[in-house]
Amino acid sequence: MMELVVEFEPDYTSGKIAKWRSSRTGLQLIMFQKDRPMVDGSFAVATEIHDDSGCPHTLEHLIFMGSKNYPYKGLLDTLGNKAFSNTNATTETDVTRYTLESAGWQSFRALLPVYLDHLVHPTLTDSACYTEVYHVDGEGKEKGVVFSEMQAAENDPISMAIFHAHKLLYESANCAYASETGGLLNALRVLTADRIREFYHSLYRSDNLCLVLVGPVDESEMLETVSAFDDTLPDLPKVSNKRPFVDSGEIPLLEKTLVKKFFFPDTDESSGHLMLVFQGPNVNDHLNVTALYVLLNYLCVSDVSPMHKRLIEIDDPLCSEVDVFDESYLVTEYSLWYSNVPTSELENVHSIIEEVLQAHSDDARREFDLVRMRDIIERERLLAIQTAEMYPSTLARSAVTDFLYGNLDGSTLKSGLGTIKVYYDLAQWSIEQWTAFMRMWLVNRPHVATLAEPSSSLAKKIRIDAKERVRTTRQELGKEGLAKLEEKLQAANEENERKIPDRLLSEFTTPDPTSIKLIESTTATAGTARSPDAPVSGNTIQELVDGDGGETIPLYLHFEHVTSSFCSIKILLSTSAVSEELLPFLKIVLGSMYSTPIELEDGTVLSYEEVVNTLTRETTSYGYLTGYNRDFNETIVIDFELVPERYESVIELISQLMWRTKFDPTRLQVLLDKLLLELADQKRDGNSVLQSAIKQTLLSSRSGALADDELASEKLLKELSDQIERDPMQLISKLELVRQSFFTLNNMRVLVFSDMTRLQRPVSSWARKFVKESGKMVIESTADLHGIPRTLDVLSDEGKSLGGKAYIMPLPSTESSHMSLMTNGPSKFNDRDIPALTVALSYLNLVEGPLWRGIRGAGLSYGAWIQALIEPGRIVFRVDRAAEVVGSIEAARAIAEAYAGVSTSATEEFEGMIIESAVSIIVSDIASDGINAMSAAERKFLQQVLRGRGRQADQDLLEQVRQVTKTQLVDVMRRWILPLFDARKSSVFVVCNPVKSLEISVALEKLGYSVSLDPFDTASLDDENDEDSDEDEDESEASEEVDSSSDEEEDSDDDDDDDI
Ligand SMILES: [Zn+2]
Repeated sequence: MMELVVEFEPDYTSGKIAKWRSSRTGLQLIMFQKDRPMVDGSFAVATEIHDDSGCPHTLEHLIFMGSKNYPYKGLLDTLGNKAFSNTNATTETDVTRYTLESAGWQSFRALLPVYLDHLVHPTLTDSACYTEVYHVDGEGKEKGVVFSEMQAAENDPISMAIFHAHKLLYESANCAYASETGGLLNALRVLTADRIREFYHSLYRSDNLCLVLVGPVDESEMLETVSAFDDTLPDLPKVSNKRPFVDSGEIPLLEKTLVKKFFFPDTDESSGHLMLVFQGPNVNDHLNVTALYVLLNYLCVSDVSPMHKRLIEIDDPLCSEVDVFDESYLVTEYSLWYSNVPTSELENVHSIIEEVLQAHSDDARREFDLVRMRDIIERERLLAIQTAEMYPSTLARSAVTDFLYGNLDGSTLKSGLGTIKVYYDLAQWSIEQWTAFMRMWLVNRPHVATLAEPSSSLAKKIRIDAKERVRTTRQELGKEGLAKLEEKLQAANEENERKIPDRLLSEFTTPDPTSIKLIESTTATAGTARSPDAPVSGNTIQELVDGDGGETIPLYLHFEHVTSSFCSIKILLSTSAVSEELLPFLKIVLGSMYSTPIELEDGTVLSYEEVVNTLTRETTSYGYLTGYNRDFNETIVIDFELVPERYESVIELISQLMWRTKFDPTRLQVLLDKLLLELADQKRDGNSVLQSAIKQTLLSSRSGALADDELASEKLLKELSDQIERDPMQLISKLELVRQSFFTLNNMRVLVFSDMTRLQRPVSSWARKFVKESGKMVIESTADLHGIPRTLDVLSDEGKSLGGKAYIMPLPSTESSHMSLMTNGPSKFNDRDIPALTVALSYLNLVEGPLWRGIRGAGLSYGAWIQALIEPGRIVFRVDRAAEVVGSIEAARAIAEAYAGVSTSATEEFEGMIIESAVSIIVSDIASDGINAMSAAERKFLQQVLRGRGRQADQDLLEQVRQVTKTQLVDVMRRWILPLFDARKSSVFVVCNPVKSLEISVALEKLGYSVSLDPFDTASLDDENDEDSDEDEDESEASEEVDSSSDEEEDSDDDDDDDI
């Protein structure tokens, strides 16, 4: 029986929060009822452990290997496919959280009991531990899903910095926050199944489990389902269990500042990183916890913060970014992360940070800016409201924290989630209060500083050691020993991979998709957005717009009326308005636009600091993006979020940002330095290099997406950075020209998503300031507007004739390979093949589906999926973090041929039940794409206007995909997918480690491609190449290990670009 502990309505957002607890078993349940399409569940287990064995993390994986009633690996994923749902899990230092995300309550309710059975009755077999945790395979290589995952993470500088800091803070007091719950490699090598089961029994108890549900929950059905589950759980013991962490004694507090330097492997030794960790107030002290958070925000975030001004906004910056992370442990923990600090300056930067803190906490020095602090507090208050409205599942995190450390009577839950009064309290604090608070928590408190120094010899050593280890293992085991291990692995795999009986799957019926409530909005248009041939029928919102001058304004204005306390203004611009020669300078105009001085009409000049402060005050977010909703990449979207009360003043601010900024040589120098510093990270990242190579090859210099690409613009940025000191006007005059051609009324589509009844003068606010400032341009009809450019319009010669070419980019910093194989696809948004193509691809890409099993399951690659991108008119096969690039292509080809019915060796049929799952995924993708009012409105404009699919686009698509037949699926496979695997019709781009490039090149030539090796000179990004000259047949060691089964933690929805 679940008994109500507390219930309340928060004072800052709609929806009820309630908590129940079973007094018999101790099971806890927290609900946040919210009107939205998705239900998000978090099932939390507190994980206090005093070693680095990784038991919590290994369990997180093992739970998904099957339960007593459902002893089948991957069952939750397979059922999730059918029921519009996703499952996942993460392990942190103090908690493991299992998540279930479903479109609609019915789906969630159907899966919940199956999921919970996995948590309380997992099989935890020896064979599952063997394959999932750690083993040595028949070739003497160390494998295991958890082991490989931790191997990839172990040398990451952030993970290493946190590890060292936690040891310094907690280890001597034997506090569990010191533990690496993910598991250290050495500990995982010796971890036994018995130890994991023992940990399971000690902590996976009903009184250490809390379910948190957020979304359109049916309360009585929920209580019925959870009570039925609770009835199956055992009674609490007579002597009550110790509560993890809370009953484990005092958390140790640091007595003096400790500094720890460590090395991380990196071939580029020029810059390292620095982390400072402070201990904060008790987690239930909401006022002081919030105060410290906003204080660090004040000190470290934004271009005008003291840290930025001292370290970044200077000649020769001392770091590229400062990030703040907080940990809600019983005693809170705050980390400041300074990235890309020049290696020789690491110690110096540490002292500078201490100086900045000291100076700011000194009342007499009067450095503290109370006005800015109050702006930040108000913005944080608005963001708390916005988060609760738009991303309510983030509140589940706070609920889990309360389960871990709050009072069992619900009082801390209510004070933490019921009100955001703290922001009003903090807004009253004086300078003296803030500086005293700062002295108390930051200046006079000791901290831990970890200095991460790059080491190329360590990088080399790690590689050699790994090889040496395999060599030794092989020698020790000999042929026979290895064969035995291979046998053992095969047996374990066989036991794990029991087929899920069809009976079980067919018993589980897919819920009715119409029960999922998609978010609706009402469209209204004004000015040139009003289309004479399709007038918007007289809705009250349209009347409101018309009544405010909507018919005559010379501006494109599209409104979506939604239920929200916020307003989103997006301005969509075409890069085609800027001439080809000036296009590369567009990114500098956009990059500098939000922190450049403004000259007002009366001649007064606002400094860049004042501009940044104004933006902080007026908006909850601002910025710009290339492309609209990750589509139409030849457009730019300038984006502001605000409360409706600020509508008019933000419009005025936008006009100033567009037409009244004064380009300033110092600010431009800072921007160029920053862009160049950030390039270092991009050059190391395989995916960035891949995307840049594709753009540089397939797009012409007329492309805005290419001009925006950082790696492609490196040469220009360097030239400008050299030039600007000598002759700033040369650059500034170009920027002026860009601005004149780009920010014109005939190049703008203004979108406003808001509760329209809350906007004062929705149309005339634009007429007054904005249209006037724009310089009296006359536009009368849609015909005067710049068209929305398509990628198809800006292709290079190469891009126009895909086929026969392969490009290999060797990159020393990547261990695994990344690949994109592409051919022409449909490019009309109303192409009749789109529904069938969408279902076929959804089918192939399913979790536990054909590509998943055939490629990921075979250890060829971590991720592999096929997309149809309609905007550029391409079908793309992507492979991410591959061990075997060409092997992945061949496996995908075999799968495609089998489903297209043209294979000589195997035939696969599209199965009805799985087609249902494929359609389910399309439904839940649409629901999650429109997860809140703003994203639903954004999607509607994309579908209706940009893609021209009409007002009912999503409803039509859902109708069409349900009617797709097997014959149609086979047909689209033949016509659209098979050409991918025909070298005459497809082109391929590969980023790989240099040791692999020759082998891949030979294999691709064999497939019929003409290969360009290193066309962009990426191999020379550092000089590490020679070290691998001693490579032997063990080359594959250079490849990242690939998990051969579902890794719940890192499943990323890489296919979210799918054009549905
Ligand atoms: Zn994991």
